[in-house]
Amino acid sequence: MTLSLKELTAEADRCVACGLCLPHCPTYRKTGSEADSPRGRIQLIRAVSQDILPNNARFKEHIDLCLSCRSCESACPNSVNYGALVDTTRALYIQKRSVWLSIAKPFIRHRRLSNAITWPLWFLSKLNLITVLKQLVPTAKLLPTIQKPMVWKSLYTATQTTQGAVSLFLGCATNAFDNRTLSASIYVLNALGYDVHVPNAQTCCGSIARQAGDDLEASLLIKKNASNFDPAMPILTTASGCSAGLKDYLTTHQIQDISTFLVSCDWSTVKITPLKERIYVQDPCSLRNVLKAQKAVYDLLKKIPEADIQALPGNSQCCGGAGAYSVTQPEMANQLLNDKLTAITANQVTILATSNIGCSLHINKGLNSTHASTRVTHPIEIIAKQMGFEA
Ligand code: SF4
Ligand code: SF4
Repeated sequence: MTLSLKELTAEADRCVACGLCLPHCPTYRKTGSEADSPRGRIQLIRAVSQDILPNNARFKEHIDLCLSCRSCESACPNSVNYGALVDTTRALYIQKRSVWLSIAKPFIRHRRLSNAITWPLWFLSKLNLITVLKQLVPTAKLLPTIQKPMVWKSLYTATQTTQGAVSLFLGCATNAFDNRTLSASIYVLNALGYDVHVPNAQTCCGSIARQAGDDLEASLLIKKNASNFDPAMPILTTASGCSAGLKDYLTTHQIQDISTFLVSCDWSTVKITPLKERIYVQDPCSLRNVLKAQKAVYDLLKKIPEADIQALPGNSQCCGGAGAYSVTQPEMANQLLNDKLTAITANQVTILATSNIGCSLHINKGLNSTHASTRVTHPIEIIAKQMGFEA
């Protein structure tokens, strides 16, 4: 939620500076600086909003370093709405003329444009030429594995007695880099008796633009989604980052993370093949701190006979993916990623389930030869495979 200036000051005033949120803040834990803590940032926001301190480069630096993980919000006994504070601050004071956002904006906004990039990349990867591209263009090193782009139908009908209808939110990053998760979602929903609508003109959830302080762009994307999704049907997302962004701003529609929806379905008619494996789960911050729905992922995976479901140690700390954070704040993003990699190595993780594309891209980027047997995947893909889904 974006606040007015008066509401911003009033919300900041609700912080009683108790400091209980400090140990939960990843940036404070890393830098040890009060200005990189939730309490410190709230004090800075209040001072800038009242013209006590200038809106200068140092203020911007401390706000930029915030991951918007909202771990502080979950810990706050006074229920200070830190998410609204930081979103509003970015919109009012930190509007960036970011080069990367200006370049990325059309691709985020228009799926056809992002497909126009992913098709040639996919061909290059088929010809084993991605490595050459990565040597020629340094930024190409950030590219994940490219899956064959998909052209979505507007409706996928249930394969058994219809239980209802849902809309599927594609998400700009998931559609570009992990459409297998979207196909797996359609497969599972159809098998459970749900018609799946995929509105063609849907667009990005707006979270990346909002994080960059581009409130105008974020609002435009929300409006476009509002007019393209049927409010009578729940919108299911496979990326909890999108879910959180839509839930806060697309208030006319019912938004649900797909795992939350699926655990409430009737599974008595489907067959799930056993999987004798230990599956570790990484909780995305958006699922844990905003949607407060992380339990649904464990409950969903527990439907797989013989699977041993465990939480990845250190789950309460952000992985550093955080939307575009790994691009804008690579140093802190890598420090946080290293903590995840340490947990993955220490626990000899072979399957890591995470339900947010930002986390999965970021963690995948950090895996190296010591993690040759580690696979990061969406929980829906794991269960879909046990139901017969083939990518
Ligand atoms: S949102 Fe996350 S990084 Fe930002 S102040 Fe809160 S806990 Fe710290
Ligand atoms: S826990 Fe809440 S009230 Fe206490 S310092 Fe943090 S934000 Fe302020």
